[in-house]
Amino acid sequence: MKGHKRPNILVVEDEPLIQEFLKTGLFYEGYDATTVTKGGQALELLFHQLFDLIILDLILPDLDGFEVCRRIREKGLTIPILMLTVKKDVADRIAGLDAGADDYLVKPFVFDELLARLRALLRRSGRYGDPVVLKMAGITLNPDSREVLFEGKALQLTPTEFNLLKIFMQHSRRVFTRETLLNRVWGYHYFGNANIVDVHVSHLREKLKDKPPRLIRTHYGLGYSFHPEEIE
Ligand code: CA
Repeated sequence: MKGHKRPNILVVEDEPLIQEFLKTGLFYEGYDATTVTKGGQALELLFHQLFDLIILDLILPDLDGFEVCRRIREKGLTIPILMLTVKKDVADRIAGLDAGADDYLVKPFVFDELLARLRALLRRSGRYGDPVVLKMAGITLNPDSREVLFEGKALQLTPTEFNLLKIFMQHSRRVFTRETLLNRVWGYHYFGNANIVDVHVSHLREKLKDKPPRLIRTHYGLGYSFHPEEIE
């Protein structure tokens, strides 16, 4: 699998056997999986942790999958959602896609089928798989060549600034805490001061002429989010 980190999957599934099957299977296939049984827990977790994709069962003990999907999209999160359902009727599939799911899989499913869907969704979202050139807000970022164009000209970024910008572009509108950015950009074993994030964000803003900041928004006491829609 391409990409330096294992994709982090949030599994929302209340049936213990399927939950275990998914968690174990995903681990051996090179993914990390966090499992929860309730829709409410999933929504809560999404605010505190960074995931690359959600596998969401339709029938849950509290909110159903449609509702969870709707709330995720209402928050502006673009994370890919793969819905699991036992119902085979077309109306349900359409309802799932309408609620903001990216794809669905009918239970019982073959694990290879699930993996194929995951790969396709992650590739489409530009998070994993074949590198996808990201273009927004006048910025073109090539994750493979590590080249960045801004307003048609090459932009010189340090490796840290590049990694920060990439994560922002891959997860626009998501609020990142400084700790999450530290983990994701500097690595889990970095024990430095979170203020280092502020310093690099400030350099990035300067290079992107983001003054006063519109593109990279500060959430005081919390962290940052990236808003290409403010520019386009
Ligand atoms: Ca269920």
